[in-house]
Amino acid sequence: MPHSYSISPGEGLIRPARQCPSPNQDERPAGCEPELLVLHGISLPPGRFGGPHIERLFTNSLDPDEHPYFREIHELRVSAHLLLRRDGSLVQFVPFARRAWHAGRSAFRGRDCCNDYSIGVELEGEDETPYSDAQYAVLPAVIRALFRAYPGLGPRLIAGHCDVAPGRKQDPGPAFDWLRLYDSLCPADKPSDPP
Ligand SMILES: [Zn+2]
Repeated sequence: MPHSYSISPGEGLIRPARQCPSPNQDERPAGCEPELLVLHGISLPPGRFGGPHIERLFTNSLDPDEHPYFREIHELRVSAHLLLRRDGSLVQFVPFARRAWHAGRSAFRGRDCCNDYSIGVELEGEDETPYSDAQYAVLPAVIRALFRAYPGLGPRLIAGHCDVAPGRKQDPGPAFDWLRLYDSLCPADKPSDPP
């Protein structure tokens, strides 16, 4: 599992990651740079991990007859920039320079339409199930690469989908350990041993 990722800011692709382009993307509005990171949780069918269904949702190829829930969602036109799977592998659907369709009706600190100025990262998971150690290992490395590539981002500019669409969305859910993420991103100064 890699612990270092690189991003070419112009092209907006992260390496290493598997590229799975989504048609559900468009240009960011003029002047909009990434200034917010939105973390999501997703599993398809809900509560089941592995399988191709998240990628199919984001590429408009989910079979509505495969599961009753898919019938409700197969016509959604949604995407995210990245999916971080349970095993720590990374899939990119949309280049960061472009707008992914992940947050829907949303606002962060009074500024609405979060998709315009955010990067959306889906964690394969479920609101009440602990996320995996591999995800907690890879996510900070990915976020550090994003911080290097996009100076408008920073540790105070990370929100859950639940925070930008309160009452409407709950992901990544109470199972997501924000402190564990922040401890990895910003290790606390440890008192040094006495001489
Ligand atoms: Zn979400």
